[in-house]
Formats: sequence, structure tokens, C-alpha cells
Amino acid sequence: MTRVTALDDHRPSPAEAAIWHLLEEVPDPEVPALTVLDLGVVRMVSVGDRGQVSLDVTPTYSGCPATAAINMAIRDRLLQAGYEDVQIKTVLSPAWTSDWISAAGKEKLRAYGIAPPVGTAAGEGAGRGILFGADPNVPCPHCGSVQTQRVSEFGSTACKAQYRCTDCLEPFEYFKCI
Ligand SMILES: [Zn+2]
Repeated sequence: MTRVTALDDHRPSPAEAAIWHLLEEVPDPEVPALTVLDLGVVRMVSVGDRGQVSLDVTPTYSGCPATAAINMAIRDRLLQAGYEDVQIKTVLSPAWTSDWISAAGKEKLRAYGIAPPVGTAAGEGAGRGILFGADPNVPCPHCGSVQTQRVSEFGSTACKAQYRCTDCLEPFEYFKCI
């Protein structure tokens, strides 16, 4: 499988591909079912001629406590693999959007019992204000019913809202679309 970096015309070198491969093993501290690659937070990887590794990481929701934990998890995994010179640069622009969650990541969220973002942040009817705003029709990750209602604006973190399915009566979290 070829993994494409943030730069579309840039094919990863074997050294860079090795880093991307290691990143597939780094779970998101907040949703361990997802890797940091599923989240799409790693924007760029480069490996210098002395083996120094540089990464651009765009944090998810600002203020999300997972951000520092994500950087630490990445650094730990690379250190374990013998990469001692690791620079992680936090890149805030362009801002992370839930559109960057991979298709595989959305499936993993659903399997984990968290409804993935509905629609796209860049798409029609959506806006970045939606974190505190509109109420999308969120299908239940357990039974697929759209007869769901929001119980609380915030779930276990500000990134998620608490929902309940009125068909199967199961509560679930919705990963907000931003
Ligand atoms: Zn349900």
C-alpha cells in the first residue's frame, strides 16, 4: 500500500515510508480504536540524511487534551524504534477538520460505538461553527437508526456530543463534524 504524504507530488522515500509504517501502530490516546493516521493529524514526514525525523502534526480540536498526548505517543513509538532525533512541529494552519479522518477511521469509530462525523466540514450546510451549533441527523452506530436525539452538547470530551438512540435505546457518542 502506498501512503501519500501531505505533498501530493512527493513520494515517500524508503526511510520516510518506514516512519509512516510505524505511525500505523500509534493509537490515538483518546480513541484507542483509531491510529494517528486514521485521524489524519500527521501532515508531513521527512527523514534527513543523518536519520533525523521531522513531522508536521496538526492537532485536532484546539484545547483538546489529546493533542499533547498524541505528540508524546508518536515520539515514544519512534524512540522505541531507535529514532532518537525526532522533531515534531505543531502546524495550526490549515486547521484540522474531521474531513481528514480516513474512511477506515470512520469505520473503526462506528465499530467502536462512536458515530463518525456526518457530512463534511467543507460541504454544504456545514460550517466550522457547528461544534457549538446545528444538530445533524446522526445515525446510531449500534443499529443504524436515524431516530436519535442529542442528550448533551458534550460527551467525554468537547470533541464529542452525547446521543441516545430512540430505537435501540443505546446511548452513544458522536464525533462532531468540524
Ligand atoms: Zn440504535
